[in-house]
Order: sequence, then structure tokens, then C-alpha cells
Amino acid sequence: MSAVDGLTPVDWARVRGDFPLLARQVHGKPLVYLDSANTSQKPAQVIEAVDDFYRRHNANVSRAVHALGSEATEAYEGARRKLAAFLNVRADELVLCSGTTFAINLVAYSWALPQLKAGDAILLTRMEHHANIVPWQIVAQRTGAVIKVAEIDERGDLDLDAMYAQMTPEVKLVALSHVSNVLGTVNPVREICREARRRGIVSVVDGSQAAPHRALDVAAIGCDFYAITGHKMVGPTGTGALWARREHLAAMPPFLGGGEMIREVRFEGTVYNDPPHRFEAGTPNIAGFVGLGAAVDYLSGIGMARIEAREKELLAHATEALSAVDGLRIFGEAREKAAVISFLIEGAHAHDLATLLDLEGVAVRSGHHCAHPLMHHFGVPATCRASFAFYNTHEEIDAFVAAIQKVRRLLA
Ligand code: PLP
Repeated sequence: MSAVDGLTPVDWARVRGDFPLLARQVHGKPLVYLDSANTSQKPAQVIEAVDDFYRRHNANVSRAVHALGSEATEAYEGARRKLAAFLNVRADELVLCSGTTFAINLVAYSWALPQLKAGDAILLTRMEHHANIVPWQIVAQRTGAVIKVAEIDERGDLDLDAMYAQMTPEVKLVALSHVSNVLGTVNPVREICREARRRGIVSVVDGSQAAPHRALDVAAIGCDFYAITGHKMVGPTGTGALWARREHLAAMPPFLGGGEMIREVRFEGTVYNDPPHRFEAGTPNIAGFVGLGAAVDYLSGIGMARIEAREKELLAHATEALSAVDGLRIFGEAREKAAVISFLIEGAHAHDLATLLDLEGVAVRSGHHCAHPLMHHFGVPATCRASFAFYNTHEEIDAFVAAIQKVRRLLA
């Protein structure tokens, strides 16, 4: 049991016991899973919710009047309500979709393409994931708008004064991550969105790496759009959501056409359904959303403040231990940082490091982390990234650092 920041204690060993996969071995060693920023592991509660849906309630949503159809619809809409409460937004402003990539593309195609024109600008930041770059490049190519980039300082924090100076009248949209998946930088999105709004700029926040790790009040952030992905927050893959201000949803044309998103279809013309259903064409990942609802219950049951405090402790421990390793460079020392550490060891390639760590049972990600422009900024092709979740332990951090020391000797 450990008490963090005056919060009631959590039995973290029991919490860890909820995650069956964490008990496994790889290459004959106990698994040390440090790749949660890539995708998180799933507790039994989520796995069982998906299993229970398929065993006892499976039917399509919003179509059949039979009992199973009602149960499936209620389970799916119940997940929407849970997720909305988790984010502190209205359920009818929450579009369920396959994840952040879909969510940002929805804004790009349904909001930005009809709105932007030649001479307009889109402001991004140096630390964006490709999912928050490429859709805007497509919009820019099609509309003639240009992309501007807000830069970071040597710590990995945004240069806010420079960013606000870039918010000139041509800028119609700013898109930025709440938390960087590579540097762990927690951006002051509330302040940035306020500055954008003062200038009439629409803001899109990529919350992929924030939602799993901190209590969110999306309404208080004051953005126009907020995207999340379920598989990073102990939920199933292929689930996520876009929150959008009601006035945007009301004005946006649909992105995809098909069943569920219509009210009436005639060959002469179709009347679309109201938001959010207007943006949910086709049969959704119903079981996945049932699992995501269970994931939200699970995270809320522990408490996001406790999760955040626990991960802060793990980050502090890992940062201190890695800082003592000769020749190890950490990328990103932001003033406020989530539990992500990107690093390299002098003379070693990131993929060699990750491969040798894997043989020690330690799973870290190596590569560009879908953030080529950030890699270019640091002048490296790739880094290794250890990302932590509340289910990790201090003992795992010690095992990780011991493995790093072993690998460093091997590569010397
Ligand atoms: N944005 C950030 C910051 C991410 O870390 C990720 C996933 O790695 C994404 C977007 C894309 O999420 P998904 O692949 O679940 O759509």
C-alpha cells in the first residue's frame, strides 16, 4: 500500500494483479512492460466486459427492437455517457470513433476542408504525432492553406511567446498535443486555447497521452475539439472519441456516409441524423466501447489523481536512476512532464538497445515514435522510449536500469 500526496492509499500490488498479461515471461525473464504510451495493458475487468458482451448481449445497435438490440444499444450509449462524464463533457457532443487518428481526420475533413482557403494558416507544434500533422497537410494541399510550426526550447517546452506571436490573423486553426508521446511534455493547453480563442482561432487538442494519466476537464480547457484514443487508457483497440463544441458539430457535414448516420434516405436526397450519430456511419465497435466503458469505470475506481501521483513517483525514480547511467542522454526535461522517458546511449542505435533490452524481458519502444519532425529537431533518427503506467512497479524500474547497465557493457 502506498499513500500519495495525502490521498487515501491504493494497494498497487492488487491493482497490478488485475492485469493478467503482466504476469507473463518473455525470453525466460519476467516481463517489464514499459511501452504503455504505445498501447496500455488491459485489466481483467475490461477483458471480461468484452467477453460478457459477446457471450450474453451481442446484437447490433440502434436497429433492432428485440431485447438484445436494446441491451446492445444501452451498453453502447452507456459507454458514451461514462466517457463523457470522465472527460466532463456532454454525451451528445461526444462522437465515438476508432481512435485519435480518426478523430483528427474527422475534424480535418468535416470542419477544416470546408472552412479553410488559400491564404489561411494552420498552426502546429514541433512535438506533434504524425496523426496531428498529416491530416492538416492534406487539408493544406487541398485548400491552399499553409502550415506554421511552433517550436520548442532545449527542455522540450513550447516557446509560448513565440507561439502566440505566430497566432496572426491568417491562422484559423491551432492543433497541438496535450501531452507529448516522445518528450512527456505537458502543454499548458488551457492557456494556449484561451489565447487562440481570443484571436478567433479554433483549437484542436490531441489528448491521446493525457487521458490515461490525469484527471481531465475538457470543458475547462476551452478548446474546440478534443481527441482521445481508448487503447492507451486500458481500453480495447479501435475505440476512441472526438469531443467537439455543439456549434461545430451542428455545422459540420458528415465525413462518412452510411447506416446509422441518417434520419431519412431518398434517392432525391438524404436527411442526416443529429450529432453525434451523424458522424458514426456503419456498425461501430460495440464490444470495444463496452470495454472502454469498463476501462473508464476502472480508472475512475482508482482515481485519476492517484494515478497521476503514482506515475509521478515512478517517473522521478526512473529519471534519477537513468541520469546516473554513463553516456545516457534523456530527451525532454519539460517543467511539467508525464511518465515518458526518451533516451539514447552514446554510440548505440536505438533499435539495438531495444532488442537487447527485450532479451532481458524489458519492453521499450524504439524508433521515431511517429514524430519525424521532432527527431529531425534533435538530429537523431530514433530514440528508445520507456513509458510508465500506474501498474508498473519500482522493482521494475530497478530491473530496467540493471538491464540498461548490462546492455551498455555489452555494446561498449
Ligand atoms: N497522438 C498521439 C500523441 C499519440 O501518442 C498517438 C498514438 O501513438 C496518436 C495520436 C494516434 O493514436 P491512434 O493510433 O490510437 O489513433
